[in-house]
Amino acid sequence: MDLGIGGRKAIVCASSKGLGRGVAFALASEGVELVLNARGRDALEATAADIRRATGAKVTAVATDITTEAGRQAVLAACPDPDILINNAGGPPPGDFRDVDRDAWIRALDANMLTPIFLVRATIDKMIERRFGRIVNITSASVKSPGSSPTLGVSVGVRAGLTGFMGVLARQVAHHNVTINGALPGRIETDRLLSITEFESKKMGRPIDEVHAAHQAIIPAKRYGTVLEFAAATAFLCSAQASYITAQNIMLDGGTFPGIA
Ligand code: NAP
Repeated sequence: MDLGIGGRKAIVCASSKGLGRGVAFALASEGVELVLNARGRDALEATAADIRRATGAKVTAVATDITTEAGRQAVLAACPDPDILINNAGGPPPGDFRDVDRDAWIRALDANMLTPIFLVRATIDKMIERRFGRIVNITSASVKSPGSSPTLGVSVGVRAGLTGFMGVLARQVAHHNVTINGALPGRIETDRLLSITEFESKKMGRPIDEVHAAHQAIIPAKRYGTVLEFAAATAFLCSAQASYITAQNIMLDGGTFPGIA
């Protein structure tokens, strides 16, 4: 299926690894011109080179921390008028909220709520003028099922704030063919998933293989999701055809959410 976005421009935040990298690959395969971003330059340049080699897409890499004002300005300077904006950043560390001080809460708010909002603020009016915009916020399935992630209260808290704000804005811009959706990963196999599982294994004093097996046993699909699966669904939300899908929060969780989604 041709997604109808060849020649469009996209900013994909936090995209040297994991979910962001997968989405960047999927968009580049559709002929989208990319600005990628991550803090670590080597992995970012390697990903940019891989994508250029595999797809022939034009890819610009901006090594910077997207959660800072300077970082956002550097990314926007490389792509001031994106048609597609994929908001993403590293998630807050897991733990007990009693150990989280005010500075750590502010860091989480900056990374996982305010950064996406400021990037949207900087780009949405031009999307409205061009009558095309696709914004996808990568959040987390636990926004819809907070009980499933007892150690991720900070992550769920700040992402729920983002989700609420985007739900308001999405309804204001839908008639301009600008869509805003959330892509909500359940357990997708990336470095982040592995490090969270390591944390849980240490906390519970159980071997990591056992923890992986226990996690997968409660997923109806009986396995973790792949980056490819997550990226294909997210790329579809950016397609020309997805123009009537907005203000949705779509779970990629192998059926784990127990209710009617
Ligand atoms: P990952 O495999 O650890 O990749 C994270 C990527 O983000 C890397 O490229 C990293 O590069 C970049 N990054 C992190 N902080 C950044 C910053 N401040 N500025 C710019 N780039 C930054 O993680 P992932 O699994 O893809 O997760 C992506 C997001 O989805 C996270 O917020 C995570 O909490 C959330 N999530 C993931 C899952 C899952 O199952 N994988 C489930 C729920 C939620 P640098 O470190 O070099 O900057």
